[in-house]
Amino acid sequence: MSLSRYEKCESKIMKDKAYIKQDCYCDSLNDQYLKENSIPKGFCGICEICKKPGHTQHFPGAVPYTGAWCNECLQIVAKNHKIRSVIFMALFLLVISLIIGGVIWGVIEVIKNTF
Ligand SMILES: [Zn+2]
Ligand SMILES: [Zn+2]
Repeated sequence: MSLSRYEKCESKIMKDKAYIKQDCYCDSLNDQYLKENSIPKGFCGICEICKKPGHTQHFPGAVPYTGAWCNECLQIVAKNHKIRSVIFMALFLLVISLIIGGVIWGVIEVIKNTF
C-alpha cells in the first residue's frame, strides 16, 4: 500500500503549509509592493522582531492585531501570549475572589449587626 503512504505524506505537507501560511497576505500582494518593501518572493512581510522575511498575519491569539512575523518569531510570540494570558487569567480570578470574599464578608457583617 505504497500509494496510501504517499497520500498520507502529501496531506501532512499540505497541513504544514497551511499552518505556516495561515491567513497571510501572500496571495493578495503584488510584485511591486514586495519590491518596494524589499520583501523576497514567497513572503509577505518583514518580521517585526528579527527583521527577517516573514508573513503578515493576524496575531496568534485573542488580540485584534495584525503584524508581520517570521515563522520562528510567530511561535515565540504565540507562546509568550499564552503565558501572558495565563497570568492575566490568574490575576483576574484573584480579583474576582477578592470581590466575592468582600461581598461575603460584608453580608456576614450585616447579619452580625442585625442580630
Ligand atoms: Zn505570506
Ligand atoms: Zn522573526
